[in-house]
Amino acid sequence: MIDTTFTTQTIQKLVQINSVNPGLDPEGPGEEEIAGFICDTLSELSIPFEKDILAPGRVNVTALIKGSGGGKSLMLNAHTDTVGVAGMNDPFSGRIEGNRLYGRGSYDMKGSIAAILGVAKALKANDVKLKGDLILSFVADEEHESIGAQALVKNLTADAAIVTEPTDLNLCLAHRGFGIFKITTEGKTAHGGRHKHGIDANMHMGLMLAELHKLSQRLPEENTHPLCGQASLHVPLISGGRSLFVYSNSCTIHAERRTIPGETLEDVQTELQSVIDKLTSQNPRFRATLEPEIWRSPYEVDASSTIAATTKKAASDITGKSPEIIGHTWWEDSAIFGEAGIETVILGPAGGGIHEDVEWVELDSVHMLGEILYRTVTDFCGTND
Ligand SMILES: [Zn+2]
Repeated sequence: MIDTTFTTQTIQKLVQINSVNPGLDPEGPGEEEIAGFICDTLSELSIPFEKDILAPGRVNVTALIKGSGGGKSLMLNAHTDTVGVAGMNDPFSGRIEGNRLYGRGSYDMKGSIAAILGVAKALKANDVKLKGDLILSFVADEEHESIGAQALVKNLTADAAIVTEPTDLNLCLAHRGFGIFKITTEGKTAHGGRHKHGIDANMHMGLMLAELHKLSQRLPEENTHPLCGQASLHVPLISGGRSLFVYSNSCTIHAERRTIPGETLEDVQTELQSVIDKLTSQNPRFRATLEPEIWRSPYEVDASSTIAATTKKAASDITGKSPEIIGHTWWEDSAIFGEAGIETVILGPAGGGIHEDVEWVELDSVHMLGEILYRTVTDFCGTND
């Protein structure tokens, strides 16, 4: 069904457009140019679309293939931004070598954008009349704050969605979430020679870190999920003290807690507060505060949901083998769609070098992805033929 020449050329053109997320690299141009290319392609296919400008240079594109009624609505989704290109040779080449197409975003996730556009082209070419609506959404900023997906769910809903993040054509039904927590210990400034007057916030943070270290050892053992693996905790940032010869009045860390489905913000806040409470009860001079700064929920969809079953069957029919059911350890926009009541699964192409110096997508997997999506769309939305 899928025009493989069109799909391959489309990936190449998409990779040749720089869409580095400016939230990650201030030099990054954002999504305006790539959104323009997607709009031009949709225009050529006579598919109506809307362009939503979220902020300067930050753009969502949403297309609608209206159904005749009486079917379920489905959204195919991809993000258009990429991470930065530092350390890469020729990040925007789109060079093809055998079955591989190289460049930043080829795997994460411009191959998927091309597969979705390939599905749209095939539906038009075959004059397929869907019963349910098909929405194609190309969102900004997944790699940073997900302003694209958050804006999208304010104006739009669907019965189900497929996020086409890389899965090597496996079916991903769950992923971990994360929370960033700022923890500050408070000390008391004093001359370094007046130990009876000072309280050392940095030393107190040391006590905190020792407890967090114990927690980080325990968590992966105690909190596990069959698809997503283990919960985890680490401390990516630390800063404390003003000067030599002065007792530190304040020390701050940012703790990063990776969660498994079922864990809530309240659970994690209670877990971290209990560490502070324990240290406060052991040492009356210990003072610390806890502030949640970022929270992204973990996600899980029921394996018996219609979208999971339909996608699984389509993948089996096209590839000739049942897809492996997997979970991802990183967070994705699917959690935002899931929280908005859209049952979402994740299925995307094969490749390698995600967020690394050499990134590529396997072209045959993109073509296969297009076929799987096409089959899922016609089965899930229903057709009038
Ligand atoms: Zn991605």
